[in-house]
Amino acid sequence: MEEVLQRWYDLISIDSVMGHEAKAAEYVKKTLESFGLIVHMSYFPEDEKNERPSVWTVLDSGRPGPTLLFIGHIDTVDVNREAWMTDPFKPTLIDGKVYGRGAMDMKGGDAAILSTIGYFSAHRSEFAGKIMACFVSDEEGLSQGTYELVRENVIHADLALMAECRYDNVAVGFRGRFSFEVTVKGKAGHASRYPQVGENALISAGKLAAAIEALPTLSHPKLNRGTWCVRYLSGGSAGALVVPDSCYMFVDRYVVPGETAELCISQIMEAANALGLGGKVSVRLKPRKSPYMQAFAIPEDHVLVRTLQRHYRDVTGVDLPVAYDPSVCDSNILAVSLGIPVVTFGPSGGNMHGDNEYGVPEQVTNALEIYKRLTRDLLKPGAA
Ligand SMILES: [Zn+2]
Repeated sequence: MEEVLQRWYDLISIDSVMGHEAKAAEYVKKTLESFGLIVHMSYFPEDEKNERPSVWTVLDSGRPGPTLLFIGHIDTVDVNREAWMTDPFKPTLIDGKVYGRGAMDMKGGDAAILSTIGYFSAHRSEFAGKIMACFVSDEEGLSQGTYELVRENVIHADLALMAECRYDNVAVGFRGRFSFEVTVKGKAGHASRYPQVGENALISAGKLAAAIEALPTLSHPKLNRGTWCVRYLSGGSAGALVVPDSCYMFVDRYVVPGETAELCISQIMEAANALGLGGKVSVRLKPRKSPYMQAFAIPEDHVLVRTLQRHYRDVTGVDLPVAYDPSVCDSNILAVSLGIPVVTFGPSGGNMHGDNEYGVPEQVTNALEIYKRLTRDLLKPGAA
């Protein structure tokens, strides 16, 4: 078996469901050390027992030039074993597809990065500048792995490739996302006296929820529009004869560039005022351990995009269209927090985050070849 496929199989065989990244991190560390590299482990503060490391290294050509970053996550989502037709932690080839948790998202990308680093560590004359590789934890959670690398200020790169599972196109932009907590106050009273006494917070919240989803959003030529989604409502009591005096609402907001958290909050407050609920509604950005991800898009004619497209065509024989993603991923952090132009492209497959997830061997080997060519091209000796 080709080395990159063996690494892919090895990684799938290691259970690294989010929260249990240590063994996969150890595998990555050992592999990078076998290339003669100095390897760093990074732990985010909430990981008090130091069990969820991210791993990073820098391969220096010894010659001046830009730094190209390859990044992937080593965690996966959990499995529902009964629903799988194979053992999710035993890569199984059936009809040209390899089944296993992480086979698609994204251990093929991790393997391709490892083999890219392995190749260039043995062929340092073929590039100038540096190649950095990061293998992060908690991407399926709050991206604390990547945020910790940002906090430690270890990522210094001019260009980046996120090896996420996206093979038929290259993502050059992602929307951002905020979550808001809205509390609507009413007035308690005996239910038998309602509506003469009491003010029903659930009814007010329901009206406000409908008004929120109708609020205008900005548009972007490629990322389309921002969107609102009222995702959770709770309040009242089924067991007591009391008019509900409070309702909690959770609101998701996907954003395009120009839409800030402050803008969203003022929109919600305006909607509340228009319903006569001023003074009864409070809104806050839901506190979370990591910063929220903001929207970004890099130009479609960026050298990173064009170069990737050229080598994809040479390797696969077909064109690689650009795409814009309605969701968020760690690419947002690189682009927004660090200002690094980033493309998102890597071996893919099917049933992402679902049962019987699979990847495709040819995509893993092709991704490696494309990463190698991209590196040689972007870090051409003598170009700096
Ligand atoms: Zn992923």
